[in-house]
Amino acid sequence: MEKLNRGADWIHLDVMDGTLVPNISFGFSVIDAVSKVAARPMDAHLMVVHPERWFERLAADGVSYVSFHLEAALRSTSSHIDAIHGLGMKAGVAINPDVPVRRLFPYIGKADFFLIMSVFAGFGGQKFIYESLDRIAELKAEILSRGAEALIEVDGGVGSGNAASLKEAGADVLVAGSAVFKSPDAVAAMQALREA
Ligand code: ZN
Repeated sequence: MEKLNRGADWIHLDVMDGTLVPNISFGFSVIDAVSKVAARPMDAHLMVVHPERWFERLAADGVSYVSFHLEAALRSTSSHIDAIHGLGMKAGVAINPDVPVRRLFPYIGKADFFLIMSVFAGFGGQKFIYESLDRIAELKAEILSRGAEALIEVDGGVGSGNAASLKEAGADVLVAGSAVFKSPDAVAAMQALREA
């Protein structure tokens, strides 16, 4: 945690339920523990069905950014965004690589950020999917054409080899897991991604 507090801008927390995605990561006990030592804004990525069950507790833990999957929200996407805003947090909508980017367009101007998965949600260490660059560029163009403000976050297989291309395509927030935690110098790895 000390390294994340020094090197990261946000602390990204992957929450998996074993239902929307096959793996289970961690629950509230870990988020409670992280919240006590985090010196950077926490960004919770809910890879769960019924993400709304998490919102209040995340707010109570001081989480700043919450994203949930469009695939898990169906027709509740707008009400989820409103609920997150009502708790004083920033709302993000996430999609897996097989969901067309245009399905996010109705939420431009409403969501604070969009999370484009550049691997399939649920497993660490997967290879980056290169078509993600086109998906980011497509979303960025739509956001700009509407004069809206929304950050684009990219999650999955991000590292020094693609950080510059991702930023060029329009990514604002890069989520790194293996690239940082498997590096001998995590703080330097985070700085290298920032400067790519
Ligand atoms: Zn994530």
